[in-house]
Amino acid sequence: MSEYLADSLFSSGKSQPRQYGGSIQVAFDSGADSCFSYLVPKELLPIEKGQRVEVPFGRNNKLVQGFCVGIGDEERETSSERRFRLKIVHRVIDKEPLVDKQLLKLAQWISDYYVCPLGQVLAAMVPAAVKKGIGTKTEKYVYLRLKPAKASEISEITDSLRSRKQKKIVELLWQNKAYNTDSAIEIKTLLANAETTIGPLKKLAEKQIIEISCQTVLNVTAISGKGSAAVQDKNIILNDDQNSVLTGINKETNSERFGVTLLHGVTDSGKTEIYIRAIQTALKQGKTAIILLPEISLTTQTISRFNRRFKKIAIMHSRLSAAQRNAQWQKIKSGDADVVIGARSAVFAPLPRLGLIIIDEEHESSYKQDTAPRYNGRDAAIKRAQLERAHCILGSATPCLESLYNCKTKKHFRLVSLPKRVKNLPMPEMKLVDMSSAVSQGKGINLISSQLREHLRKTLKKKEQIILLLNRRGYSNFVFCSSCKHTLQCRNCDVTLTFHRSERHRAAPGYAMCHYCLAQSLVPKSCPLCGKSLIMIGLGSQKLEEELAREFPLARAVRVDSDSMRKQDYYNILNDFGSGKIDILLGTQILAKGLHFPNVTLVGIISADTALQLPDFRANERTFCMISQVAGRTGRSEKKGTVYVQTFLPKQPAIQFAMRHDYNGFVSEELKHRRAAQLPPFGRIAIVKMRDTKFDKLSCACEVMSERINQIVTTNGLAIKVRGPMPAAISRIQRHYRMQIIVQSPNANEIQKLFSISRALKPIKPAVTIAVDIDPVNLL
Ligand code: ADP
Ligand code: ZN
Repeated sequence: MSEYLADSLFSSGKSQPRQYGGSIQVAFDSGADSCFSYLVPKELLPIEKGQRVEVPFGRNNKLVQGFCVGIGDEERETSSERRFRLKIVHRVIDKEPLVDKQLLKLAQWISDYYVCPLGQVLAAMVPAAVKKGIGTKTEKYVYLRLKPAKASEISEITDSLRSRKQKKIVELLWQNKAYNTDSAIEIKTLLANAETTIGPLKKLAEKQIIEISCQTVLNVTAISGKGSAAVQDKNIILNDDQNSVLTGINKETNSERFGVTLLHGVTDSGKTEIYIRAIQTALKQGKTAIILLPEISLTTQTISRFNRRFKKIAIMHSRLSAAQRNAQWQKIKSGDADVVIGARSAVFAPLPRLGLIIIDEEHESSYKQDTAPRYNGRDAAIKRAQLERAHCILGSATPCLESLYNCKTKKHFRLVSLPKRVKNLPMPEMKLVDMSSAVSQGKGINLISSQLREHLRKTLKKKEQIILLLNRRGYSNFVFCSSCKHTLQCRNCDVTLTFHRSERHRAAPGYAMCHYCLAQSLVPKSCPLCGKSLIMIGLGSQKLEEELAREFPLARAVRVDSDSMRKQDYYNILNDFGSGKIDILLGTQILAKGLHFPNVTLVGIISADTALQLPDFRANERTFCMISQVAGRTGRSEKKGTVYVQTFLPKQPAIQFAMRHDYNGFVSEELKHRRAAQLPPFGRIAIVKMRDTKFDKLSCACEVMSERINQIVTTNGLAIKVRGPMPAAISRIQRHYRMQIIVQSPNANEIQKLFSISRALKPIKPAVTIAVDIDPVNLL
């Protein structure tokens, strides 16, 4: 790095000109899509990439924080004119970089690929609790400024002191050889042992006999790792299928080469056991490992299973307090953890020597973050593995079509499978219930069909347990006037309101709620347009709860969905279910994932059609996954499992394939349609989402954006199809009109080119909120 003197502009008048040690580039999380250069005063050196700095920004030179992302810039350093216009770094915040070189590269990739400012990605990489130092406290330490070797030397000092208490302090420090910051004694301990107060200590400091130093330490907040020991996992002997899968994975992990193994294993086939063994292999080689799970699968059950098998484990999920999160992060950063288990953002865990990343339930759309940076945790994990030359395992009972297709077309991907359940247990028996026949027989709609009701009765009698799934919250999804056909609509959004019973007062009239903006209103007694009475139609989990209570008044049924509980309550309920205090769990799709309760012998899917009604090309895939996943919650022991699938569309292929546990059949059927429409995995999609409260302004901005995109496509000859602008499926949310432009291409590079050109151009006018969603998982 070159050194030079800044001109008088920066030096403070008469004093010596300040010396500078080159320039750095700083990224801010303010949303600015570029980095800014700053001069570094020599006294702040050395400075490293990944450290945070405080710098003046904007016209008012307000001090803001940013990450140092680049050091030196040859071109600028030679151009003295530019150099002298640079502002100056005010302060270096971190002692050590918060993100290392590899993570910085990952951040750059995410910034490029997902069209998001680098500063925003870095901001998301490091938990806020870490940046704010939450859960840390400053402790004061005391040591002697001189280092007396002999007793005579120390008595020389103590003799000079008149205060008995001061003498005692000096003697104690000397006896404990507290001569520097490393050997210093914590102030409270010292005062307690010397039986004195702060006064004498201050005097000694004034006389420069002792030094008081400050150190930041973590308030240790332990995370309880215990939970129900429902899973006995000591001395498990792998079966042949597991053994051959594990051998293959171990070979990859040992190779020090990047690679991805897609592990397709039916539910209960022993995938988690494979993950554990694969991690053990990595640890034996002195490497470390990350395992990502969907947030909702991070139950005490799963965490305690890993806790029992690994000593140095760190945990990252949303139920941690800020202080715990900071403590876990510091544990990882300092090398005290070699395994990290966590949700999406744990992909950024600052582990050194990373050898293995595992993504369980890799098909889960919740791995995609729906706010900026809109990255997919699975794809970021694959990229990180590539940068670190680590191995990556994607596991699922229903791998997503993109991952499957990668195995066919990409050299680093390979597919392995566990086709059978462990101990050769059979897959559960699947029973289809055609709900339309019940309606045509004029029986009216009950949520629980007579067949399912009968089986419920038998199961309860045998003291076995039941899971009922209804993918819709609330009581009913329409409040409707049968006379004038008016439905209650949200004032802010383009959706109908859902009727909810009051949770506390069953007799209360209830309220209508919007599931998008969460606005609530009382339901009018009669139709606001014609005055006739209103009826509730459609289904919701509250209604199911009511029906169950009527049919089975003695059964202990508990409803779990986001209306009825906080996260912690959910985890408590699972523990009660595990210990048999609850007979029936009913709720939304959060019940479909990762639960392992051997006594569950009956699963009922109240409506298999809810996902099919959404205007999204992945509707079939979602439906197939949902049925397979929920079905996997039963038959996990010697007791036989049965699954009831209630539907109005019994011939629908996704449902038919799921009834036969035929993943491969489903895939080949679905791929035909995707290929014909050039949809993923055969092509890539990105959505430019635009919104504003004023419709005219939004339309105008959309036209400008669409023109810009089309022009870039034409001038650069990109293989991209542009669709729209068109209203989003839900055309208004929270008083914002929503429009979108969809771009589609046979390959990702073309889409990358398009956005790298467009993000460098001037912002669109009129200004509206714009978000780019690359590889969207949700088209609503
Ligand atoms: P998955 O992750 O595919 O659902 P798990 O790894 O959780 O499957 O295994 C399901 C259950 O079977 C767990 O209780 C696990 O301890 C047990 N298990 C796994 N492998 C074996 C084996 N080879 N022999 C006996 N039990 C096993
Ligand atoms: Zn609303």
